[in-house]
Amino acid sequence: MAGKEEGRGEEKNKFSIWDLPDVPMGQLPPHLELQRSRVLCNKDAPIHTESVQYSGAYASMGLDNSLRLDHFCHNFRVEVVRLTDEDMEFDMIGIDAAIANAFRRILIAELPTMAIEKVLIANNTSIIQDEVLAHRLGLIPISVDPRLFEYMTENDQPNEKNTIVFKLHVQCKRGSPRFTVKSDDLKWLPNGSELVKESRNATSDSSSKPETYTSFSCSQDTLSEFAKNPIAPRHPDIIIAKLGPGQEIELEVHAVKGMGKTHAKWSPVATAWYRMLPEVVLLEEVEDDLAEELKSKCPVNVFDIEDLGKGRKRATVARPRACTLCRECIRGDEWEKRVAIRRVRDHFIFTIESTGALPPEVLFTEAVKILEDKCERVITELS
Ligand code: SF4
Repeated sequence: MAGKEEGRGEEKNKFSIWDLPDVPMGQLPPHLELQRSRVLCNKDAPIHTESVQYSGAYASMGLDNSLRLDHFCHNFRVEVVRLTDEDMEFDMIGIDAAIANAFRRILIAELPTMAIEKVLIANNTSIIQDEVLAHRLGLIPISVDPRLFEYMTENDQPNEKNTIVFKLHVQCKRGSPRFTVKSDDLKWLPNGSELVKESRNATSDSSSKPETYTSFSCSQDTLSEFAKNPIAPRHPDIIIAKLGPGQEIELEVHAVKGMGKTHAKWSPVATAWYRMLPEVVLLEEVEDDLAEELKSKCPVNVFDIEDLGKGRKRATVARPRACTLCRECIRGDEWEKRVAIRRVRDHFIFTIESTGALPPEVLFTEAVKILEDKCERVITELS
């Protein structure tokens, strides 16, 4: 049986070289151009998934396949499709998957933000353990531009340039109903820590200023960047804990600058992802009952029905961008001969969802700068 199937497959693939259309030098015949520029999504699996990188791959047809800067500059485009305060969808056209992926990885792991790193707990009589409480606090996005702060190394003292301090002091009085602690209960301390360190030297001068956990030389709200924009959590209603009557939480948190590759709490994006632009092609006219069947096969309404008059109908591809590559429309008898599902190899639909520290469009431009720096470093080292 398998032999028969194979035999039939070979029969189907036989063609005469004389049937191929004439192609001028410097161009590829249609079937090779399709393999070069599209990923073909067949019923069982996608094919031609890898891009052809070798510069001389099409030399016999007079086509230069090398990477050329002028070619890239001419073809590369970014088109913004949707932009809000929190997310952005844009098309990146004319690049390889490796570069699109580099942007995704930089966005997730290498763009810095400010996140809560230290939690000093003075009192916690809630039912949440200290370490769970600290973990929850660490994941609260803070609305502040990280470019205004410096990284804090092990030897640095926390100061106004590398640390943001918040305090949380909430109490549920006896006889009161249960109380929900939310992120807007975190109050910014522009002058730094208010918790006094226990003095190790009992003979220290009682008139000197008590030592706290930070050493700010000025108040952060006197800095022009924060005078009109007080620092606060990005969302005021993130639930931190629930207190029962008589329970109390008193703590102080210190936020510092870091990157997602150290811990996900520093990642500036909820997610950053891309997919290749879908291309749905009708290989023949799909009419009447078949048109209705095709329309009903697609769960995301890619196809529409066109009225041809006199009761005749024809299927059209109305929303190819919505295609999720589920391949339902090419399953079943003969459907693979009627419909082709492809992906455009150098066209990426990119989505960035910001956690709120920076707007998504700024995140993308920052990612471009980081990739540029990396390239410059490599070029300098090579030269
Ligand atoms: S692959 Fe799925 S989503 Fe895409 S057109 Fe076909 S049925 Fe619709």
